[in-house]
Amino acid sequence: MYIVCSDLEGVFIPEIWINVAEKTGIPELRLTTRDISDYDVLMKKRLQILRENHLKLSDIQAVIDTMNPLEGALEFLDWLRSITQVIVVSDTFKEFAGPMMKKLGWPTLFCHSLTIDASGMITSYDLRQQQAKEKTTLAMKSLNYQIIAMGDSYNDIAMLKAADRGLLFRPPENVIREFPEFPVTHDYNSLKELIQAIINE
Ligand SMILES: [Mg+2]
Repeated sequence: MYIVCSDLEGVFIPEIWINVAEKTGIPELRLTTRDISDYDVLMKKRLQILRENHLKLSDIQAVIDTMNPLEGALEFLDWLRSITQVIVVSDTFKEFAGPMMKKLGWPTLFCHSLTIDASGMITSYDLRQQQAKEKTTLAMKSLNYQIIAMGDSYNDIAMLKAADRGLLFRPPENVIREFPEFPVTHDYNSLKELIQAIINE
């Protein structure tokens, strides 16, 4: 019996920080794990930038609220949830994801959280656990599920490797080159066919 563990940003919704950078006009917020590979260093830098610009959680949420799921994402996710169970496994924070989850019909989400002070400023972030994507996959395996994992980037690779079947959706070229073992799809119809074929095997 299969269960799907899927990444969020780049698969169902656009990259949150890139949108926040564009809409706040603060280009430094575009930095990603491709620029600063240490996630802790990157997140501390982002929170420092927010503080320097007096941006509160509510300001970021207002930006996120203007974002929409990727075109076709909701229909695809509705279809997927009609044929199997789906867990969205993300390195984002529940305070950021809320508005997007609503637009996606509230799928199950496993992610991290933020600490907010009395004035509404984000003071720190709390990783629920290290390697959360990989550990979710392994935990589901321990419940006797077979796992289809899908994602678009480097932070998904451990999850894809731990899964029974790992799929890349719209990954950058360097990820395709480095991990040729994972099938690649670029649109929801092909992804649908691939998943349906796996489940029918
Ligand atoms: Mg992603």
